[in-house]
Amino acid sequence: MSQPPAITLATPLSDLRGVGPERAAQLSRLQLRTVGNLLLHRPHRYEDRRQVHPIGNLKLNEPATARGRIVAMGLKRFARVKSVFEIILEDGTGRLHCRWWNLPFMQNYFQQGDEVMAYGKPNSLRPRTIDHPETEVLESNEESFIHLQRIVPVYPLTEGLAQRWLRSFIWRILAEAGPAITEPRPGLSLADFPGRAKTIRMLHFPEELAETELARRRLALDEFIEMQLAIQTRRKNLQAKARSLPCGGDNHLIKPFLAQLPFRLTGAQTKVLRELRNDLRSGQPMRRLLQGDVGSGKTVVAACCALMALESQFNVALMAPTEILAEQHYQTFEQWFAPLGINVHLQTGSYKTLPDQGARSQTGDTSPALPLFPDSPSGNQAAQTSTPPCATANGQQESSTLVIGTHALIEQTFSLERLGLVIIDEQHKFGVAQREKLVRKGSYPHLLVMTATPIPRTLGLTLYGDLDISVIDQLPEGRKPIKTFVRTAETLPKVWTFLRQKLAEGCQVYVVYPRVEDSGTAGLKAVKSEWQNLRHELAPHEVGLLHGQLKAAQKEQVMADFRAGRTKVLLATPLVEVGLDVPNATVMLIENAEQFGLAQLHQLRGRIGRGSVESFCILVASAKSAEARQRLQILAETTDGFRIAEADLQLRGPGELLGQQQSGFPPLRFGNLAGDIDLIERARREAAQILS
Ligand code: ADP
Ligand code: MG
Repeated sequence: MSQPPAITLATPLSDLRGVGPERAAQLSRLQLRTVGNLLLHRPHRYEDRRQVHPIGNLKLNEPATARGRIVAMGLKRFARVKSVFEIILEDGTGRLHCRWWNLPFMQNYFQQGDEVMAYGKPNSLRPRTIDHPETEVLESNEESFIHLQRIVPVYPLTEGLAQRWLRSFIWRILAEAGPAITEPRPGLSLADFPGRAKTIRMLHFPEELAETELARRRLALDEFIEMQLAIQTRRKNLQAKARSLPCGGDNHLIKPFLAQLPFRLTGAQTKVLRELRNDLRSGQPMRRLLQGDVGSGKTVVAACCALMALESQFNVALMAPTEILAEQHYQTFEQWFAPLGINVHLQTGSYKTLPDQGARSQTGDTSPALPLFPDSPSGNQAAQTSTPPCATANGQQESSTLVIGTHALIEQTFSLERLGLVIIDEQHKFGVAQREKLVRKGSYPHLLVMTATPIPRTLGLTLYGDLDISVIDQLPEGRKPIKTFVRTAETLPKVWTFLRQKLAEGCQVYVVYPRVEDSGTAGLKAVKSEWQNLRHELAPHEVGLLHGQLKAAQKEQVMADFRAGRTKVLLATPLVEVGLDVPNATVMLIENAEQFGLAQLHQLRGRIGRGSVESFCILVASAKSAEARQRLQILAETTDGFRIAEADLQLRGPGELLGQQQSGFPPLRFGNLAGDIDLIERARREAAQILS
């Protein structure tokens, strides 16, 4: 007879006593497949059952746990589909009505006389009532020491899985698997934290509530250490493998470029350019994130960086998140670079100024091609037949090329030989996974990513931890600060008067609504349906209409008219968020502002305040949502993008700042990107020590 094998963290739950196929299926719906998974199943709250609230003392709207015996229960049905199931608990101090609406099957879980714990917020005191409480039927068996007279964990569940069963199961597995829990990185001295095994016990069955946060922090630290190890390993691999391209340049293009600019670079811009040049000259391919508040002048810095590579006879690709922004960059860079004899091309879904190179993809090749970054290292070195035409006007010397496009550039069958530098504008829509693509193909162009919004330090060290960071921490001189006001919709007539007055003074105005078309969502304004109304309010001034459903050529026309001042007002969806640059536009009205994140509003607002005239931003939010208006008030108080990004992170979590980006890391279960800066910094040091 052999002993059953000892439990390890890798043991599948389905191998355990008491777990049949049905249980295993339920557990796997919670992503619990192994003992290791189970031990990290995080309670969503804890309940201190050392003292239970007498029912007679329950307070309105204050969440509490009560305990009593079922003295009555019943199901009432109304109409055909509506029902309410009710149990009444009695504990000697009073009676508590627990109700469930339209969940008739709840009656299967209870019996008259059962002892029940109920947690929830009383929504009435006459009679004392909790709608949809969390409940647990107590059984008078030997396991009551797991479920009573202690702080108990309350876990996320799934249909068919009872709280009490799961709690007993975890208790048992914790006892059996305890010896298998070892330190994940034994070399580290984490003496200020409990050991991993003790931590996991504290997570599930703490002696004191304070232990739960200590346990969370220890587990978060472990997560961050793994994350930092992944980041730092990736960097080391890149450094070991990559051959960098000498792209530092010799100033022969930058000098004349800077000389013709109507302004001088700020100290911060110059400092950042020095950092970029050092990267482009060093033996490592650049991997750098350029941060700067809206309007801090990132575009000019990107242009100088591009010129360094172009001076070194390398080609450059610039990627923007939308066609509109790509087209605007195309116009800007054409104007700047054409006099220097540099070819500038636009390559988007709608526009291609390069000859079509699609032929390459018609060979039935099914691998996800990334021809921007040719497979063979030699592909980088010599111009081949598909090289874009690179002759200057006089036809003598081959010159270098800048190609501007959307992110689709890296997906498309499009090739650019001698690619030395890739610049990605408005980073937050471009994730780690996509950055990885840039280096997968064995060719290592330098990479500069620019953020639209400042990034809180926690994110800089994690989601962007594979990048070095440069910050433009200064705005060009002479900027008048933007005055921001938060208003309710009732005051709109006054707002229109204000806009008419500003228009009469010669200012241009942005009006931003959240929707393109009326979707029936109550109160959300749509640009298409409001256009006539706005023209009427602001007559005789022309109102341009810009949204994502327009054809590229139409958008182009609308933007050109606004830029040239032929239309004074631009009514738009948040499309204008990114990158538009019209200095004479100094007023912005955003309605339904509560629909947007603070960082996004700050970015939108960054479209104004670019000229030398005082600018005004009016945020209109529904009068009903006092909380939302409070949040918006942060924008009225500060124009510091770093503070705003930090506030946004605290209020809405990292998802909002990152847009739809895939972080490329496993989700954090214990780590909190909004608050754990100390743990992240610690993890960075620990990881560096492990790798050294
Ligand atoms: P962002 O950092 O938001 O991308 P931009 O690059 O669009 O900002 O620059 C905003 C505006 O500031 C542009 O009109 C640009 O020409 C101007 N600008 C950039 N650098 C300077 C500077 N050093 N002095 C004055 N204006 C500048
Ligand atoms: Mg920009």
